[in-house]
Amino acid sequence: MKASIITIGDELLIGQTVDTNSAWIGAELSALGFDVCRITSIHDRKDDILEALGEAARISDLAIITGGLGPTSDDITKQTLCEYFGTRLVPDERVLGMIEAMLQRRKMPLNDNNRRQAYVPENCTVLTNAAGTAPGMWFERKGKVFISLPGVPGEMRHIMNMHVLPELTKRFRSQVIIHRNIMTYGTYEAKLAELLQDFENELPAAVKLAYLPSYGVIKLRLTGSGKDRNVLGDEIEKQVRKLYKTIPEYIYAENEETLEIVIGNMLKGRNMTVATAESCTGGEVSHLITSVPGSSAYFRGGVVAYDNAVKTGVLEVSEESILKHGAVSREVSEEMAKGARRILNADFAVAVTGIAGPEGGTENKPVGTVWIAVSSQEGTVAEMRVFGTDRLSNTRRSSLAALNLLRLQLIRR
Ligand code: AMP
Ligand code: MG
Repeated sequence: MKASIITIGDELLIGQTVDTNSAWIGAELSALGFDVCRITSIHDRKDDILEALGEAARISDLAIITGGLGPTSDDITKQTLCEYFGTRLVPDERVLGMIEAMLQRRKMPLNDNNRRQAYVPENCTVLTNAAGTAPGMWFERKGKVFISLPGVPGEMRHIMNMHVLPELTKRFRSQVIIHRNIMTYGTYEAKLAELLQDFENELPAAVKLAYLPSYGVIKLRLTGSGKDRNVLGDEIEKQVRKLYKTIPEYIYAENEETLEIVIGNMLKGRNMTVATAESCTGGEVSHLITSVPGSSAYFRGGVVAYDNAVKTGVLEVSEESILKHGAVSREVSEEMAKGARRILNADFAVAVTGIAGPEGGTENKPVGTVWIAVSSQEGTVAEMRVFGTDRLSNTRRSSLAALNLLRLQLIRR
């Protein structure tokens, strides 16, 4: 089964909005076994929309369209769909009721623009939208399915998850597809691929392996496809066990679990606390830790010690260490961690000091050089990493490296 994705909106073509909808929809459809054969982005323009619909009908069995369903005059997808399918707009009481209820909850009055959103093409199946005001629409013609959804990513995903994916699964999927994600940290993609060369060669034809790297975390996705769910499930389980045997030191979790979730669980399980002392990451490590619900049980707090005067004044790092070794050094990272642990009264403290860039590098310490330390009752460990030249990527990589060093210390407790 072939699928097309059409995203509509001037903002997509002038670089104001990145088309994340296509990526998300593409992933979901391919997981269902669809061959996503084309992604098209077009203006909010009638002729362009009609042309894209015609092309999708020619080359695919399913077209998913997002955007252009807003209540304002620049959004013309709904009228154009009526023209394409030779139908007219009629009021839908259920949609109007939902819009009214949503606006009431938000204490906002209903106006003519909102009332217009409750008009839907007469020959479509309405896909209600509990996340917003524009409903989705499901059309069928000559055995082909067209689904139109709002452009707002959260609303699009809501309608896809609630209505579209379950229905597509029922209607089109003959194959069982199982995904399993194994989360790794601590090595780079090329090295991991080398370590997994034999594993990959020995994979049965029904199971595929994909590497999905992001700031040092590499997600290994095993995808199996077959006819029998139980047989396939057993096969995937066997391969997962084999992965654990092949690269035990790099696997830290399964599925979408992040390092911050994993260290949170470890701290909770041990009834222990953590504090942070951050320079180049500016609070990102604290932010990651506190993005996990329930982190107040184990996160004490953090010091963003950006200026050396804060490193010495608040964290009690010795001036001598900074003069002798520089602010980005093993000694300073260790003293930052020890200071934070003492001052914030935590079982563990994580410290990061580095050169995020783009300026500030030297020959000995190029941009991307980072020292990370973790202090606990058992002592203090530190490690140096050298990342790239992009500032945001460096701070994210540094933060994850810090969380991983903490994880490695926690494993031993
Ligand atoms: P619309 O449904 O056209 O009113 O879109 C509403 C908002 O959703 C736009 O202002 C964009 O910010 C966002 N949006 C629309 N299309 C996309 C897309 N393909 N990917 C990500 N965001 C989008
Ligand atoms: Mg729009």
